[in-house]
Amino acid sequence: MIDLRSDTVTKPSQAMRAAMADAAVGDDVHGEDPTVNELEATVAELLETEAALFVPSGTMGNQIAARVHADRGDEVLVERESHIYKWELGGLAQHAGLQVRTVDGGSRGVVTPESIAEGYVEADSHRAGTGLVCLENTHNSKGGTAISADEMDAAARAAHERNVPVHVDGARLFNAAAALDVEAARLVREADSVMCCLSKGLGAPVGSMLAGTEPFIEKARRVRKLFGGGMRQAGVLAAPGLLALENRTRLADDHENARALAAGLASIDGLSVADPETNIVMSEPATPVERFVDACAAHGVNCGPFGEGRVRFCTHLGVSREDVETAVEAIAGI
Ligand SMILES: *Cc1c(COP(=O)(O)O)cnc(C)c1O
Repeated sequence: MIDLRSDTVTKPSQAMRAAMADAAVGDDVHGEDPTVNELEATVAELLETEAALFVPSGTMGNQIAARVHADRGDEVLVERESHIYKWELGGLAQHAGLQVRTVDGGSRGVVTPESIAEGYVEADSHRAGTGLVCLENTHNSKGGTAISADEMDAAARAAHERNVPVHVDGARLFNAAAALDVEAARLVREADSVMCCLSKGLGAPVGSMLAGTEPFIEKARRVRKLFGGGMRQAGVLAAPGLLALENRTRLADDHENARALAAGLASIDGLSVADPETNIVMSEPATPVERFVDACAAHGVNCGPFGEGRVRFCTHLGVSREDVETAVEAIAGI
C-alpha cells in the first residue's frame, strides 16, 4: 500500500529507534532531561528565538500559545480555513475562552494587512478587543502553500501596529522554508511565537516545538503542565526529534515528488489537480470523493478525503519517486 493520506504516517527510522534506546533522560517536569534540553536549545537556535519548549503535539503547541498570548474574552483573528480554528475541536474557546473572528485568506490562505485592518476590533466597553493574530505556514487546507517572508512580515507588522501579538502555526514551517529557499527563522522573524511539528514531514514519531521569548516560554511551560502535557523522561521522544531536524534537508525531495505526482494525476481524465507548492497535492475528482478514495485504496493507494469534494495526497519520507509513478499508474487504471 502506498500511503499518501498524510505526512504523519511516517515510521521512525532504525537510527531514531536506536537513539530512543540510548537517550540520556531525566525528569523533564523538573527541567532535568538533558536530551529534551538539547532539543529545545537546538530549535531555539534554529528559529533564532530566545527559547523553545517540547510539546506532545502541534495542537497542544498552538493551544498553549493562544492561552499565553490572549486574555479570556479576547477575539483571535484566524484564517477561515486555518488548522487552529478548523481542526482543533474549538480549543480556542475551550482552553482559553477566546472568541474567533475569521478572515478570508483567498486561494493561498494569506492573511494580509488589509484583512487584519478589517478584522481588528479595538476593545471598549461593549466590544472584546483583538488579542491575537494567528498565521499558518505552510497553509494546510489551501494545499500546502508556502507564504513568503514578505507576506509574513507584512501581516505581523499590521498586527503589531495595533499592539496585537502574532502566533505562527508552522506545523510545516520547514517545508515552507525549503520551498522558498530561505531559513525558517527568516519566515518567523516578526512573529511572537511559532509552533513547528517534528512528527510530520520530518519523520519523528511524536512531538512538536513551541518557540518564542524567554518570558513567553516560561509561561508556556506552566500552561503545558496545566493542559496535562508535562512529561517525565521525555528524552526518549526528544532523541528522535533531534534526528528529525536533520531531515529538513530532504524536504525538497518530497516537493519534487509532489510536483511529479500532480503532473501525473493531472494527465488523468476526470481529475483536476492544483499545482503544489510543497508536499501537498489537492485534487478534485469528478466522481464522488468516497467512491474515488475507496477505488484508490482497492488499487493500492491511500489518499485522504479533505471536504468540499477534495482529496489530499501528501508526499513524505516514506514515499519514493517510484511509489509516485506506481500510484499514478494505479489511479489512471481506475
Ligand atoms: C497537523 C497540524 C497541526 C497539529 O499537529 P498535531 O501534532 O497533529 O496536533 C497544526 N497545524 C497544522 C497546520 C497542521 O497541519
